[in-house]
Amino acid sequence: MWQAEIRVDLGAIRQNVARLRSGTTAEVMAVVKADGYGHGMVPVARAALDAGATWLGVCTVDEALGLRAAGIETPVLAWLLAPGAPLEQAIRSGVDVSAGSLELLGEMVAAARAADRPARVHLKIDTGLNRGGAKPTEWAALVAAAAKAQADGQLDVVGVWSHLACADAIGHPSIDAQLAEYHDGLAVAERAGLHPKYRHLSNSAALLTRPDCHFDLVRAGIAVYGLSPIPGETFGLRPAMTVRGRVMVAKRVPAGEGVSYGHTYTTSQETTLAVVPLGYGDGVPRHASNSGPVLLGGHRRTVAGRVCMDQIVLDCGDDEVRAGDVAILFGPGDQGEPTAYDWADAVGTISYEIVTRIGGVRVPRVYD
Ligand code: PLP
Repeated sequence: MWQAEIRVDLGAIRQNVARLRSGTTAEVMAVVKADGYGHGMVPVARAALDAGATWLGVCTVDEALGLRAAGIETPVLAWLLAPGAPLEQAIRSGVDVSAGSLELLGEMVAAARAADRPARVHLKIDTGLNRGGAKPTEWAALVAAAAKAQADGQLDVVGVWSHLACADAIGHPSIDAQLAEYHDGLAVAERAGLHPKYRHLSNSAALLTRPDCHFDLVRAGIAVYGLSPIPGETFGLRPAMTVRGRVMVAKRVPAGEGVSYGHTYTTSQETTLAVVPLGYGDGVPRHASNSGPVLLGGHRRTVAGRVCMDQIVLDCGDDEVRAGDVAILFGPGDQGEPTAYDWADAVGTISYEIVTRIGGVRVPRVYD
């Protein structure tokens, strides 16, 4: 019998992708980096493709090769490439790669020569996020080099793309500013003779709120997993992940007992303490000490005392709780259980981090 598990509802993933597709004429790229935001890269990718996503997005070439190794032949874009990234392998495997600098473009040309096949490249312009990509002042040079390499048969410029900084803040002025910068960058590329099939700018937030940013392809991450990028709005999405553990031990203790390391929690009355086998070694944030919400026996509890590496303790008062009972840390919320948003609020982070870090190496994922 399981003692802790992550259930992933692939039906919810499919439903979310269908919901996202219905809101755009652009193709949908399901972003499955970081092991599918903690949900499992390959099963999520398959479910998203079933529901009509036509692209997959990852950070590293290794992630992309993992998809290929699983037999997934769909277009895949890998966008976070350090010098020395395994570009030749990417090219041989038909993985699209992002270039935002002349140096990286040079490496792609060399890798394409070695592979005897053009590299499929998405040129990245930094329109204001100030992470990767060519600054507008460097853009014309990058575009010119790419146009030459394409003419020489070493590159195929498949896309021109950028990434928004504040798409989750509806009406933030930087969105318009980045969009304008992106249009300028596209015009420079067109003038250099590049007519990429895929122009892409949107993440989930822009997909859900800014149709003028959709272009030909949208890169949807968090919304695929059913979590809204915008606080307070659900957009009809259904969270796919539920995290639960079985009570290992339930014990009566008197009032005035310190609980867990450091005794940061003290029982206020004679009570039942329930120990659940999930801890920071499983990605439960230690910041959830005395704040993380858990559903057990039909009631919401708060983690009592410190989160340990392998376990948490819940103070259940006089409720009847037994070893083997199921405690739900978070799920879609429709059975009264906390959500990933509740956990994010409890520890001062975002739902992205909650789902991506949970599980560690020992909590099995089970797919529904
Ligand atoms: N595009 C890029 C370049 C990203 O890095 C990410 C995720 O961080 C996404 C798209 C998807 O973002 P979201 O999960 O907010 O949809």
